[in-house]
Amino acid sequence: MALEKGRSPFERLRRKFEASERRCSACGHVDTEGGWRVTASGSRVRYQFVCPVCDAVETRDLRLG
Ligand SMILES: [Zn+2]
Repeated sequence: MALEKGRSPFERLRRKFEASERRCSACGHVDTEGGWRVTASGSRVRYQFVCPVCDAVETRDLRLG
């Protein structure tokens, strides 16, 4: 099967985010471990990354569709 089954827009966004850099805007730390924490409600998806150095929280809000 050439079709990618089970690849929702949500999944594609998640992969894109996981490939992106997690940089803390507060202290400049770039995290190479862990990943974004994802919470979704309806068509909105929120990604959060908690800096392990200073505990600042980076948040990205996205809309699906
Ligand atoms: Zn930080």
